[in-house]
Amino acid sequence: MCPRLTSVPSGAISLEPETLSVGQEGEIPERVTRSPSPQILLPKLGWDEELLRPGAQIYMHFMQEHSCYDAMATSSKLVIFDTMLEIKKAFFALVANGVRAAPLWDSQKQSFVGMLTITDFILVLHRYYRSPLVQIYEIEEHTIQTWRGEQRTGGPKGRDQGSSAVYSLIKNRIHRLPVLDPASGNVLHILTHKRLLKFLHIFGALLPRPQFLSRSIQDLGIGTFRDLAVVLDTAPILSALDIFVDRRVSALPVVNESGEVVGLYSRFDVIHLAAQKIYNRLDMSVGEALRRRSLCLEGIISCQPHESLGDVIDRIAREQVHRLVMVDESQHLLGVVSLSDILQALVLSPAGIDALGA
Ligand code: AMP
Repeated sequence: MCPRLTSVPSGAISLEPETLSVGQEGEIPERVTRSPSPQILLPKLGWDEELLRPGAQIYMHFMQEHSCYDAMATSSKLVIFDTMLEIKKAFFALVANGVRAAPLWDSQKQSFVGMLTITDFILVLHRYYRSPLVQIYEIEEHTIQTWRGEQRTGGPKGRDQGSSAVYSLIKNRIHRLPVLDPASGNVLHILTHKRLLKFLHIFGALLPRPQFLSRSIQDLGIGTFRDLAVVLDTAPILSALDIFVDRRVSALPVVNESGEVVGLYSRFDVIHLAAQKIYNRLDMSVGEALRRRSLCLEGIISCQPHESLGDVIDRIAREQVHRLVMVDESQHLLGVVSLSDILQALVLSPAGIDALGA
C-alpha cells in the first residue's frame, strides 16, 4: 500500500495558462488574458522501445534492492512543528531554518500526523488574499491544527524499497516524503526526488551503463511537451498561485511577450514572500519577484531536445535542480523535463507502473 499524504494539493489539470488582472480593493481578480502558447514538440515513443531491450530494468532493480534507509542522507536537519503553532510563525520558521517542509506533531494524539509544506503557504495566500491593502487576518489567527483540520499519517518505513518511495512521491504529486521509524513511528528523514536521483546517480555509475542514456531526450519522449503551464513575466504573482492551486506542477516557465523563456517561478519561490514579509504583495509581477530573489538566483537551467538522457540527468544532478526547461535555439519553450518524469521512466515504467498518468 502506498501512503497518501495530506499535503497533496488538489485540482484539475486542464486549465490553459492564463494571467490575471488585479481589481480594486477587495475585488476578486478576473482572468483576462492568455499567455503565449509554447511551441509544440511531439514526443516520440522511444522509451517504450527501450523498455523491450535487455538492461532497461537495471535502475528499477537497483531501487527495488535498496531500501529508503540506503537512500537517506547520513545527516540532515529535521524541523518539527507542534500542530498548536500559529501558521504565520510556522511559515516564518520554515524560512528561518532554511527547510521546505516540516513534519507535524500532534501532542494530544502523541503522534506525527502529516507535513506542513510550501503548498500550505500557497493555499493560505490563495484562499485569504484580497488585495495589497487588506491585511490577511486569517494568517495571524489560524494554528496549524485549525488550518489543516484532521491529519492523516503517512510515509514509507525505512526498510521499504526505494522504488516504493519513488512511487509515493510521483503518484501523490508531492515533493517531500517523511520516512518513518517502524518501531517508534518517528520521522527519520524527509526523502525527495532529488535525494533519490542523487542516490541513483552516484551508485548507478557502478552499474553497467545502459545504451538508452546515449539516446536523445526528444527520441525517448521523457518529459511534458503539451499543455504546459506557463506564466508571463508581467503577470501578477497571484496568477502564478492560481495556476499552482489549479494544476499539480511544481514550477512555471516564465515567458515574455515573444514567448521566450526568461525565468522559472517555482512553488519554492513563493516562500520568499514570507522571507521578505511581503506576502500581501501578490499584485507584484512575476518578473519583479524573480529579480528580488537575487540571493538564491537559480537561473534558467535548460536543455535542448537533441541532448542525451545521460547528459540531462548529469546536469540535473550537478545543478541540484528538480527540472530542466526544454527550449529551442531561440529560447522558445518546448517542454519540461522533471525528476518525476525521469524517475518514472527509469524506476517505474520498467515495472509496468504509470504513477504519473494514473
Ligand atoms: P513535478 O511537479 O516537477 O515533479 O512534475 C510532475 C509532472 O508535471 C511531470 O510530468 C512534469 O513534466 C510535469 N510538469 C512540471 N512542470 C510543468 C509545467 N509547468 N507545465 C506542464 N507540466 C509540467
